Amino acid sequence: MSSKPPNILCVNPFIHDFAAFDFWAKPLGLLQIAAVLRKHGINVTFIDCLDRFHPKEKNKQKIFWDGRGPYRKKIIGLPKGIENIHQRYSRYGIEPDWLRGDLEKLKALKKVDLIFVTSLMTYWAAGVKETISIIKQIFPYVPVVLGGIYATLCSEHAQKHSMADFVVTGSGFKNLNTIIKDYTRFDMGFEYDIDDRDSLDDLPYPAFDLQNKIAHVPILTSIGCPFDCDYCASSYLSPQFIRRSPESVFNEIEHWYYKHKVKNFAFYDDALLINGENYAHSLFEKIIDSNMEPWFHTPNAVHVKEITKKTSELLFKSGFKSIRLGLETIDFKDRQFDKKVKEKEFYAAVTNLKNAGFKASQVGAYLLCGLPGQSLDNVKNSFLKVKKNGIQPTLAYYTPIPHTKMWEKAKKYSKYDLEANPVFTNNNLFPCVSEKNPTKQIAKIKNL
Ligand code: SF4
Repeated sequence: MSSKPPNILCVNPFIHDFAAFDFWAKPLGLLQIAAVLRKHGINVTFIDCLDRFHPKEKNKQKIFWDGRGPYRKKIIGLPKGIENIHQRYSRYGIEPDWLRGDLEKLKALKKVDLIFVTSLMTYWAAGVKETISIIKQIFPYVPVVLGGIYATLCSEHAQKHSMADFVVTGSGFKNLNTIIKDYTRFDMGFEYDIDDRDSLDDLPYPAFDLQNKIAHVPILTSIGCPFDCDYCASSYLSPQFIRRSPESVFNEIEHWYYKHKVKNFAFYDDALLINGENYAHSLFEKIIDSNMEPWFHTPNAVHVKEITKKTSELLFKSGFKSIRLGLETIDFKDRQFDKKVKEKEFYAAVTNLKNAGFKASQVGAYLLCGLPGQSLDNVKNSFLKVKKNGIQPTLAYYTPIPHTKMWEKAKKYSKYDLEANPVFTNNNLFPCVSEKNPTKQIAKIKNL
């Protein structure tokens, strides 16, 4: 075993897609791993291919009031199999030459022992491959380990096509120590018990400070989900629902707010409000009683059922600026896939939020669109009904995801061979909609 800590490079890859935008998105898992490595004495460098604040960025990238903003993009050719789609397809992120330059600079500075690359959407596989191919040009002999969501859900595809030397599935922490030992002969003595209820509280905060600028911070309060919606891979990715303590979440918010002047925070957990009396309420009360004035956002949906009068008031007073409700469809008689919302619960949630002080423009409801067998008329009706309730309907395009309950049905309905290439699962292709011109029809609904 070596006693000298290795140098590890962590890379967030490019996105190849029809559209992409920084909705408070950050490679949370990778930055959490970076924080663990750093805590154990390992030298960590982070390169973010989606960096909106790269030093070479001449066009001042627009920062919205809430920290969001567009990525740099360059139009690239459409992938094989969808060449005839009349839509633009782009690489989102920094210029490939900037990435090469950053890698060359790092190579001149130090010997890199191991490279970690993360991955998110399954249909962004080509962006991962392009990133690794550039890394391999500069560091041909340094092992590249790929982890993250695409690597877990499409591990065979990733092993065959990503150019990574090793593909990790599931939690990145599970075998972290073994991977480091195998590749660098350094034992950092890190052990992580995924089933331990306190495991999340014991982790250091994700290393957001390795970025060029911290425009916002996504806060993780839990992993997994107590629900098991047919279209969602949450239970496959994290079979256990484990929460951090409200104190630990509050301390992290304080840390970024005071030490790094972060104003905008995003909660991505769908389950944030579950059992609110015993969890989120105490977190929100702590924030209200503090001297902080952060702004919070819920880009993923929160559970409608949990939006009580008390919860709505606490959400409003603690600084939530936008609330997204997970609705699926407003056709309550025919809720096929997601049975966690009842009609009266939805109407009560809207009333509670409005009474607490939220403006209609701050509240939105996600309506799923493009599910296998779903008619676009159903989507249109739901859209109009939500609008009538005085809140914003937002269409969430369905992505077929391997290892979900709906995957087999999606394959049956799809006009593409979903197993052949994850690019065919891109939700902008509406792969499971059998009606003609879905893009045009959905644009019409959105114009309503
Ligand atoms: S869609 Fe949301 S509520 Fe349903 S299983 Fe996934 S994370 Fe949980």
